[in-house]
Amino acid sequence: AAGSLATRIDDAKPVLMVSSDAGMRNGKPVPYKHLVDEACKLAEFPPAKVLIVDRGLDKGFPKVEGRDVDYAELRARHLDAKVPVVWLESSEPSYILYTSGTTGKPKGVQRDTGGYTVALTASMKHIFTGGAGETMFSTSDIGWVVGHSYIIYGPLLAGMATIMYEGTPLRPDAGIWWQIVEKYKVTVMFSAPTAVRVLKKQDPAFLKKYDLSSLKHLFLAGEPLDETSHQWIMEELGIPVIDNYWQTETGWPMLAICRGVEDSPIKLGSPAFPVYGYDLRIFREDGTECGANEKGIVGIVPPLPPGCLSTVWGQDDRFVSTYFSLFTEPVVYSSSDWGIKDDKGYYTILGRMDDVINVAGHRLGTREIEEAVQTHPAIAEVAVVGVADELKGQMPMAFAVVKNAADVDTPEKRAALEKEVMKKVDESLGAIARPARVHFIGGLPKTRSGKMLRRSIQALAEGRDAGDLTTIDDPSTLEQIKAALKS
Ligand code: AMP
Repeated sequence: AAGSLATRIDDAKPVLMVSSDAGMRNGKPVPYKHLVDEACKLAEFPPAKVLIVDRGLDKGFPKVEGRDVDYAELRARHLDAKVPVVWLESSEPSYILYTSGTTGKPKGVQRDTGGYTVALTASMKHIFTGGAGETMFSTSDIGWVVGHSYIIYGPLLAGMATIMYEGTPLRPDAGIWWQIVEKYKVTVMFSAPTAVRVLKKQDPAFLKKYDLSSLKHLFLAGEPLDETSHQWIMEELGIPVIDNYWQTETGWPMLAICRGVEDSPIKLGSPAFPVYGYDLRIFREDGTECGANEKGIVGIVPPLPPGCLSTVWGQDDRFVSTYFSLFTEPVVYSSSDWGIKDDKGYYTILGRMDDVINVAGHRLGTREIEEAVQTHPAIAEVAVVGVADELKGQMPMAFAVVKNAADVDTPEKRAALEKEVMKKVDESLGAIARPARVHFIGGLPKTRSGKMLRRSIQALAEGRDAGDLTTIDDPSTLEQIKAALKS
């Protein structure tokens, strides 16, 4: 959305922006160019030039004289140009990728060039078992880290062909991905648990319709993989399905079975073992190491291996305070995830420690959503929490307090305001961040010192007990939440 884009433009201060006129989603064009224009208006540091790839999807998209450059025209003009190689240090940034954290302001994960190349090349061989002449199909989007690493750079570094597919797994029917596997003899496929859960609800005949004998492995990442879905997809495909755990920050897997090196047994619902290069351990909150089967914080003892972020773009202090300040003795990179290691060495990820939620593999900061909700003039205060969802893992849910009670004194008014609030979130962050529900209540549960009791709100929204409430200021707020959920 334009608001998100403007925040990123002001943080990155790009000299050039590249966009297409529109993209395709579920068979329909989604215009982009007007969002780019709006973002450039909102931003304090808009780029001097915007390069437009006109895919002919949005006829008559707006053009800005003197700033917009047409890609086809530019290409035709420079087709024969000889461009000399410019040698750079391996530590020069290759890209910045924005990801959500605990504040409303996204972090620009800065990646180097040489280390990233080494890490991806090695991972293609040792984890993903892809080699020259083969084909990789990652069903991600190039805007996310999986898209950067395993649609673009990883497979190309390995000499593989890569498939970039713009579409959902259900259109024109639930066989489309398998049709692609058959047609291009895909050997390595990478997807996300939500996609498997979506496909599990479809007719299994779609999986049997195509010749999938080229496929060696399916890799799944981005969110917890439940045991049932893991088992189902493995049985349907008849090949090993490898769960792997990583983050935008690391750029490549931290936990996986390195199939190019070992074929250790798969444990359902577990991304298995630390990948070489990562000294990954589970820590107690006091910095000591957990024993087997004891829940703790997933941390990496530095140095981080090649490929991991070199800093937060323009904010070295934030890099240190966000990732390396949890304990000082020893200094540890904190993933902000809870995890556990069993007595055979298999790890399981148990969810985030912070206010970051994971919706269908998309990482969202609840603070960002709260800020978007609060741009609606009728809203005084809001808490957004992640609520367990069978299909998408988690869904955002908002509990809002209005400035004027008369705005929500009838069911019709509540429904209308809920819609308006959702629209505000769509506009500033995009539909992926839209709360599943916006409940209006009279006050939010807080401690006597004013700290929001998010865990209690989340527990109630998931039908659990609200937990330790010794510090709560006004217990009636919990009753209001329960009543809102019931309604
Ligand atoms: P992102 O930076 O958007 O890739 O999100 C990273 C977060 O997704 C991690 O910190 C985890 O919370 C979650 N995540 C990624 N892969 C897995 C996995 N295989 N199992 C459980 N959680 C995962």
